[in-house]
Amino acid sequence: MSQSETLAQAARWLREARRVVVFTGAGVSAESGIPTFRDDSGLWQRYPPEQFACWDGLLRTALVQPRQVADFLVAVIEPIASAQPNPGHRAIAELERHVPVTVITQNVDGLHQEAGSTTVREVHGSFFEVVTLSGRFVQLLSRRDLQDIVARVRSAQAGPLKLLRLGLALRPLIRLGPTSIQRPKIVLFGEAMAEPDWSNAQRDSDECDVMLVVGTSGLVWPAAMLPIDAKRRGARIIDIDPGEAGQGDLWLRGPAAGVLPMLLQAAFG
Ligand code: NAD
Repeated sequence: MSQSETLAQAARWLREARRVVVFTGAGVSAESGIPTFRDDSGLWQRYPPEQFACWDGLLRTALVQPRQVADFLVAVIEPIASAQPNPGHRAIAELERHVPVTVITQNVDGLHQEAGSTTVREVHGSFFEVVTLSGRFVQLLSRRDLQDIVARVRSAQAGPLKLLRLGLALRPLIRLGPTSIQRPKIVLFGEAMAEPDWSNAQRDSDECDVMLVVGTSGLVWPAAMLPIDAKRRGARIIDIDPGEAGQGDLWLRGPAAGVLPMLLQAAFG
């Protein structure tokens, strides 16, 4: 099938849909300036996940190499702090005007909500929510708060960087107290999925008849099982990704910010 036939077929499926799930990964935010973790210049190339993608590793590294942890945190937080929704996020939000939609995202960047999507399951949590180590809610941060934190970490990086200085710069996102620790509610390697979002996401995914799978490598489990299970149940799966095809029924090859507005236009004019 040519790309234009694939687009027409995907548009037909959207028009016929009763419930749509849009399942997104890092790729949907790439054009908002937030790099994916697995591209050629991806974060995991520079910062090995076993050292940086779990709290144990991160704390251990911070004790001996606070400067490296500061560099890593700036690389992660800075793009999120300055990002804005792109036409892909906005097209997903606009889809709600035509059909009931739930967004299930692996991203922690808050861009779907900012674009106007009303039902968003953040199965890997959010960088804007601060919780205790046991998961109790502490406070919500704004993008501006994250920008301030990045600015403080950057100025701490300018001098001799000790763990204490880094710790002070990171407040209130991360606070290492003698009796309590607070941290962003993001799911790192080996941690349980964010609740209640994950349970809700599984239910939503069970109930959809069309799933758009946008910008995800499908390598991160258990999130990656959602499209596989939905397909097994009979839902129509449409992949949108410029890289490799997923396991969907149709593949719209291209960047989310280009393909999604085109798909919406083809489906609903
Ligand atoms: P990934 O990095 O494993 O894969 C990204 C996918 O996006 C690839 O398939 C790539 O081909 C595709 N892609 C690249 N540019 C794209 C574009 N312009 N439009 C559409 N697709 C594009 O990402 P993942 O599968 O989401 O897994 C990484 C994990 O890291 C996630 O679970 C997430 O929690 C986290 N993460 C989040 C953010 C964020 O919040 N924005 C960014 C990076 C990583």
